[in-house]
Amino acid sequence: MNKLIYEGKAKQIYTTDDPDIYLQKFKDDATAFNGLKKDKISHKGEINNTISSVIFEYLASKNIPTHFLKKISDDEMLVKKVDIIKVEVVCRNVAAGSLVKKFGFEEGKDLEKPIIEYYLKSDELGDPLFTDEHIYALGLANKSELDVIRKMALFINDLLLKFFKEKNIRLVDFKLEFGKDKNNNIILADEISPDTCRLWDMETNKKLDKDRFRFDLGEVEESYLEIKNRVAG
Ligand code: UDP
Repeated sequence: MNKLIYEGKAKQIYTTDDPDIYLQKFKDDATAFNGLKKDKISHKGEINNTISSVIFEYLASKNIPTHFLKKISDDEMLVKKVDIIKVEVVCRNVAAGSLVKKFGFEEGKDLEKPIIEYYLKSDELGDPLFTDEHIYALGLANKSELDVIRKMALFINDLLLKFFKEKNIRLVDFKLEFGKDKNNNIILADEISPDTCRLWDMETNKKLDKDRFRFDLGEVEESYLEIKNRVAG
């Protein structure tokens, strides 16, 4: 019997018969601004499961260790059981979102080199931006673990920039989560989808991601589908 053990804003995690394997189910629910804005995006669960599966397979083919095992239905994948490290790792190539709001960058400007940021994964505390020192002080990861995470995030960025460019998509920024598997190895977890990335059309800069939902830009489902079609064919 699959037992629900965790429910987040966009996914549910269930146990399976194998104690080392979890089932990750993608929901149609969408939230923004730390849960203040809530709605459903039709077919988002299926779309994001497909996009994430394709991307995890691509990254695995480039030797990135991930929790992904297998897509088993429209909106479900099997993943390795991990302990999630409570650090959201954001990688940015182009100024958008909080970089514009908080630091005054000009939206759409290419950054000279990628910026990596860390956010504490805590809904109660509103996911504050924090530094490596906070991460060590809170005991969330040690220096060598954070070095691995940072290097992996930058390598994933290189791979994804190329991957999306071939699909005529500009990878503006994205969020990653990592976990520790049963052997204490750090592996990529969570999802990679239009919920967690900013993806703009390469030619027109049309936003094809969750910002359409956040800012009521319309064509939300259509944009997610567009990404799915370009990524998964
Ligand atoms: N992001 C995410 N989950 C979060 C916060 C951010 O997936 O809880 C993603 C977001 O979709 C974007 C990137 O991380 O691709 C950077 O987000 P930003 O810091 O600009 O915050 P926002 O403008 O989304 O508040």
